[in-house]
Amino acid sequence: MKIRTVEAVPLRWPVKKSGRERTSDYGPHDESHAVIVKVETDDGLVGHGEVHPGYGYTRGACRSLKAIVEQELGPEIVGEDPTQPEYVWEKLYNGPRLGIALTYGQSAPRMGRRGVTVCAMGGIDMALWDIFARSLGVPIYTLLGGGYRSRLPTYASGGHAAADEAGEEALAYIARGFRAVKMRVGAMDAPRIVRDGIARIQAVRDAIGPNADLMLDAHGSLNESQAIRLAQAAEEYDINWFEEPVSSDNWQGMRRVRDATAIPISTGENDFTHFDFRDIIAHEAADILQPDLAVVGGFTAARRIGVLAHAANLQVAPHIWGSALLFYASLQLAAALPNCPVIEFRQGANPLFDDLITPAPAIDGEGHVTVPTGPGLGVEIDLESARRKFPFAED
Ligand SMILES: [Mg+2]
Repeated sequence: MKIRTVEAVPLRWPVKKSGRERTSDYGPHDESHAVIVKVETDDGLVGHGEVHPGYGYTRGACRSLKAIVEQELGPEIVGEDPTQPEYVWEKLYNGPRLGIALTYGQSAPRMGRRGVTVCAMGGIDMALWDIFARSLGVPIYTLLGGGYRSRLPTYASGGHAAADEAGEEALAYIARGFRAVKMRVGAMDAPRIVRDGIARIQAVRDAIGPNADLMLDAHGSLNESQAIRLAQAAEEYDINWFEEPVSSDNWQGMRRVRDATAIPISTGENDFTHFDFRDIIAHEAADILQPDLAVVGGFTAARRIGVLAHAANLQVAPHIWGSALLFYASLQLAAALPNCPVIEFRQGANPLFDDLITPAPAIDGEGHVTVPTGPGLGVEIDLESARRKFPFAED
């Protein structure tokens, strides 16, 4: 079996203006995007993956990613065996120095060892694991070692409301069955970041009661002093983790925040490949690692991150802020890691999450999600229908 075609399809959903759009430090939620990668083999098998065009609500790198996937990386792997995703990953990462890398057991990366090139690699990698598993009629987690769990707890990931509505917003998550809530804090509460942030945290904790888990996410928007003051003031509200208190460009600072608070620190959604996560671990910057399959470089990089985390006694909680395809792919990863206790479940209307794949992601009465056991990613996507439903302007 050989790879025949590699395609990238950007999808766009423009938010209908209601005057109540979600707002964070990324600004108002104007539109959402996903770039879906489709790989087809000469046997007619098809696999899919997803690439992040960027966080926030701009079009980000949709056009660049399509070009990288279809015009640069894709042609390099046409003719390769899709049941060798790790080899293909190394070929794309090392480029013309693949031979050096494999002979001497070291990385010899091309230009583009981080950023959109690695994102594009990740979408291709996901699609290859999908094909590999489908060729054997098994889910991806079987290929990754057989799996540890058939279902896992979720947390409701939202919490953008101001203090006077934050409690009501969080309570709505609990009413829908979630037993854990993540809320946004940080620069969105400027200029009184600590005072206003704590007011919102208190409102949420009061609303959800003492038994629900509560996490904070600052999107890396604080400086060290702000992060430490907010963390210390938040300790009395029984916080499960404080996510990206400072930028991923400042792992030393993240370590200092971690040293200054009893709240566990999590990070990883802006970091690339197992090499970045090795360095996060070396900096002792976090308690929980949050690789995003559509950022780190797909299953090949993520499973290596899982191993590194396990060896360092750290947990992995995959970041899934993309379409339903990324969510289902992340469930395959979560099932296969020994140290994955929980998975993110995004909140707020977004048809790319709720209306892209049947069945749509859903939780059971205990706030858990079930890992699909079908072949590959475990679910099917109708990409032609998605292209019509979520047209990208230049697609
Ligand atoms: Mg986050």
